[in-house]
Amino acid sequence: MGFSLRSRDYMEYIKRAYELIHSRGDYITELDSATGDGDHWTNINMGFESLVQQADRLEEMELSEQFREIGRIMMSVIGGSSGILYGSAYIAASKPLEGKEKIGEETLYEVLLSMLDAITARGQAKEGDKTMIDSLAPAVKKYKECLDRKEDAELLCEEVKKAAEEGAENTKKMEAVRGRASYQADRGLGHLDPGAVTMSYQLVTLMDFAAEKSREK
Ligand code: ADP
Ligand code: MG
Repeated sequence: MGFSLRSRDYMEYIKRAYELIHSRGDYITELDSATGDGDHWTNINMGFESLVQQADRLEEMELSEQFREIGRIMMSVIGGSSGILYGSAYIAASKPLEGKEKIGEETLYEVLLSMLDAITARGQAKEGDKTMIDSLAPAVKKYKECLDRKEDAELLCEEVKKAAEEGAENTKKMEAVRGRASYQADRGLGHLDPGAVTMSYQLVTLMDFAAEKSREK
């Protein structure tokens, strides 16, 4: 069976993603200290914390309005490159949600694809440049493959989740082309990209949550 996420469900996902991100503070800060300026966890954790604090208000909104508002909050609360990138991603993803009350399999694909396109347009990085894109892009690609195969929702969630995790893991072998890691002598080679890891945390939480929802029906 498929899944369908409403505004309230999406905020439940946000709370779970916050819990995971929040619990990995030392680890993510360590990663960003090796390749960047060490603030990535503080930035992203603050953004998610602010979303959770405003959850009561956000869960009452229609999906497209909710995504626009999430984008606005992320853009203003999360500092650094990731604030602008996540802000643009959520604002772009509000478009395919226009007039929709639920996010089903097809719509979640459109949402993730819009996010990827917005992050790419904004940051001008491509796959392999050692950024958050290296977790999101393989996940989006795998998602499309699963939709084309008419994969069962639970299996789809599992496959997309794996692609996101493997994508983040692969950044260890990459040299940074964009962002602060590209200023380092080794261009971050041998280290995971913190932004790819936090992106994978969000995708893993989202796909686990969607799988759980698909089992509920
Ligand atoms: P800053 O690098 O400005 O301090 P953060 O520390 O919050 O911002 O985020 C760093 C992460 O942002 C990186 O690990 C990388 O994944 C991501 N990132 C940086 N520049 C880009 C870009 N141009 N496109 C996509 N992602 C990027
Ligand atoms: Mg940083």
